[in-house]
Amino acid sequence: MQKYDYIIAGGGLAGLSLAYYMNQTVLREKSILIIDQDTKTKNDRTWCFWEKDNQSPFDKIVHRKWQKVFFHGTNFSSSLNLGDYSYKWLRGIDFYDFVKVDLAGNPNIKFVNERIERLKDTPDGGFIITDQNQYLGEYVFDSTKPLKLDLDDCHNMLQHFKGWEIVADKPVFDPQCPTMMDYRVEQRGIGVRFMYVLPESSTKAMIEYTVFSDSLLSPAEYDAELHKYIREFLKIENFTIEYEEFGVIPMTDEPISNHSGEHIVRIGTSGGYVKSSSGYAFQRTQRYTQELVKNLVTVGKPTLPKKTLIKKFKELLDSTLLNVLLKNRTSGKDVFTALYKNNPTPRLFAFLDEDTTLLEDLKIMSTVPLWAFTKGIADALRKRI
Ligand SMILES: Cc1cc2nc3c(=O)[nH]c(=O)nc-3n(C[C@H](O)[C@H](O)[C@H](O)COP(=O)(O)OP(=O)(O)OC[C@H]3O[C@@H](n4cnc5c(N)ncnc54)[C@H](O)[C@@H]3O)c2cc1C
Repeated sequence: MQKYDYIIAGGGLAGLSLAYYMNQTVLREKSILIIDQDTKTKNDRTWCFWEKDNQSPFDKIVHRKWQKVFFHGTNFSSSLNLGDYSYKWLRGIDFYDFVKVDLAGNPNIKFVNERIERLKDTPDGGFIITDQNQYLGEYVFDSTKPLKLDLDDCHNMLQHFKGWEIVADKPVFDPQCPTMMDYRVEQRGIGVRFMYVLPESSTKAMIEYTVFSDSLLSPAEYDAELHKYIREFLKIENFTIEYEEFGVIPMTDEPISNHSGEHIVRIGTSGGYVKSSSGYAFQRTQRYTQELVKNLVTVGKPTLPKKTLIKKFKELLDSTLLNVLLKNRTSGKDVFTALYKNNPTPRLFAFLDEDTTLLEDLKIMSTVPLWAFTKGIADALRKRI
């Protein structure tokens, strides 16, 4: 059996990002195998994220980007100024194609379209059994292992959403301004619900109904909410659906070890790259995979830095928000309204990216409903202890 230097188990966002960054360094000389059960030839998701311009190799393939966004909350509707940031929309298929073209020029990188059935650490390396073959790698980077999401002392929520890309029979959208969050939709049960609207032209936009809660809705409920929003808030009577997507993102503070053994490194959602309080993962995936590559190049090992105290504090804040939402300590839409109404959006973006100082974190936290968050942080701390 040929032993690969690196096997990337799962060629989605994390796997392909890692391969892309490897290919920009001396690691391009290593033998690299990418295994995915899917060919990744269809658009299967929409990534939205914020970023300062010209900082990413993927800037040239973003589908749309905007300098301002609209927010509808509790008695607060406003266009938000993003400062140095842009809000960006990248389509899954454009990312997969871009990375595949980049990797295609390297004969050391091989793709196989197989389903991984077993992955285990052995003294000789990470060992993989697929539906067709067996492979061994010095390091296996795994984004295929699902999270548990049922540990008692953890907060487990799901962010689930259904989106339609629609074409309306009349111009209704402002192509210069997406709606990042619209909380005017009916709030029900545990958690929070909102819509977002990504305009492509005055008649075409992606509309996503998003729910943070502890369980999924029935398929008919997502459709009913989308229809209602399009009719009542967007005032569109006739439209066609050109594309639809459905997704579930875990929002959890389940402890995740990046290493599942000496030769296996968990990456992506499996590696805890999703920000638990927001569900955003695109930018964090770029950061963490670049860090892995940097360490492979400099010290030969795929290590991530140890958690600092401030990082642990930020994780406690994530758990606190999950606690407040799961326990219905206050209305989720009031929390998000308070955050966006009382803080400059660039500071909030930096906070969500974990780029703020402790003092800035405290300033932001002083703007949310204090009693609910005091109870939330106490409970989150108790669970941790
Ligand atoms: C529809 C959708 C929209 C999202 N939108 C956003 C967004 O706007 N902004 C944001 O920041 N985050 C978003 N996310 C969250 C996150 O960015 C994505 O889920 C991201 O794709 C996670 O990267 P990943 O590599 O962990 O998983 P994936 O990209 O899903 O990659 C995992 C890969 O592993 C493969 N695989 C799984 N099991 C096996 C197996 N047994 N054998 C072989 N291959 C296997 C899959 O085919 C897949 O290609 C979204 C998620 C979804 C699902």
